[in-house]
Amino acid sequence: MKNFYFNKFKLKNELLKVIKEIGYIKPTKIQKICIPLFLEGHDILGIAKTGSGKTASFVLPLLNKILLNNNNLQVLVLAPVRELVIQITNSFILFSKYIKNIKILSLYGGQKYNIQFLGLKKKPNIIIATPGRLLDHLKRKTLNLLKIKFLVLDEADEMFKMGFINDVKKIILNIKFKHQTVLFSATMSEKIKKIIYRFMKFPKEINLSLDNYKNILPENIYQYYCLIYSYKFKLNILMKFLEIEKFNALIIFVRTKIFTVKLSNFIEKYGYICSPLNGDMNQNLREKIINDFRNGKISILIATDIASRGLDIKLVDLIINYDLPIDYNSYIHRIGRTGRFDKIGKAILFIEKKELKFLYNLKKNIKFKIKKISIPNNNILLKNRIDKVINLIYKKFNKKINKDFYKNILNIIKKKLNINKYNLNLILLDIIYNNMLFKIKY
Ligand code: ADP
Ligand code: MG
Repeated sequence: MKNFYFNKFKLKNELLKVIKEIGYIKPTKIQKICIPLFLEGHDILGIAKTGSGKTASFVLPLLNKILLNNNNLQVLVLAPVRELVIQITNSFILFSKYIKNIKILSLYGGQKYNIQFLGLKKKPNIIIATPGRLLDHLKRKTLNLLKIKFLVLDEADEMFKMGFINDVKKIILNIKFKHQTVLFSATMSEKIKKIIYRFMKFPKEINLSLDNYKNILPENIYQYYCLIYSYKFKLNILMKFLEIEKFNALIIFVRTKIFTVKLSNFIEKYGYICSPLNGDMNQNLREKIINDFRNGKISILIATDIASRGLDIKLVDLIINYDLPIDYNSYIHRIGRTGRFDKIGKAILFIEKKELKFLYNLKKNIKFKIKKISIPNNNILLKNRIDKVINLIYKKFNKKINKDFYKNILNIIKKKLNINKYNLNLILLDIIYNNMLFKIKY
């Protein structure tokens, strides 16, 4: 293939073949810099925008470097959320399609221990895990990290925050072998960077974000804020946006687990196909929801920050921050679920009057334009509804319909009612309009 730029890396043919197959032509900036450094054996701290291809930056060189036909656990990848562990695992599986005798296993909470014991018995070469469950296996001695050669921490800054840091430290202490450590994230505070450096050997720092937020988000996410005068109106305003925004897949971020369920139940009544996603749900359900969302079976996901890190779902083209994120980083990661790899995305932040200070500081910090968006007014809503009715009729206009069947009905109506065509049309339109789930009165 002409202009296939991955040839420049010294990667196995088995890998180049898959890269071609899935249609990657050019490496992204982070891949271009990281892959050679990784292959040369450096420790790396890679900081680059959300959606810029960090996963392949470690998966490809790892698959290239791993020794095959042995039973040693050589690679450990840690990530903060189960769904991300699954996503990374799938990436390993995809890229190793033509590599024989490689064993990949994922370990995360909520998955049955029996399945994990069986997987471990097969002596995997690569494990992708959440820290909690991995530590659990270390304690049970069902796993050891003595032969680990490569340690990867995805969403590294998150992994060194409260809630993960102690587990991560314990895990690292269990790695005896001299290993290469590679960390990735889109955001990284100086404070966390200092802690991280203690765990690395002369790391190469690739910071495509240049220590400020300017390069942290793709330019192709259009950011807006909507001023909400009172909490009381918030839900109603959300419903208005749902009606007028065109989207394939939307994530609405809210603060509490319980509200994900409440909001989802509410929205569902208006005909939207949606689902909550939160950490209290059982693992099978969580996986099913993410799969359905990925495949377009669910079009709205109402989630806590559980869905804010790392998830790469191509269809997501709208993010609504219904509740404020806890900090700027969380904002970056939440809206970074859209606009992935050159796709266009839109993000709307709901902001109450009393929260305006957050917006002010956010704007100052991220140096990105966040434009004001008005609450959709009645004229816009009405126009939108009319357009939808017209569109519906237009679609039918081009399609075959069972004319004889409807002619029959028309004849019956004519016989029973003394009604002219014009009035009948009006009545039919009224029926259509009222059946289009425009149940909200404005
Ligand atoms: P990040 O971890 O930086 O947020 P991901 O690794 O999840 O980003 O990648 C984002 C998307 O871009 C994925 O869907 C991935 O398949 C795609 N992608 C990554 N690298 C390339 C490439 N070189 N060419 C085309 N698409 C790519
Ligand atoms: Mg990622």
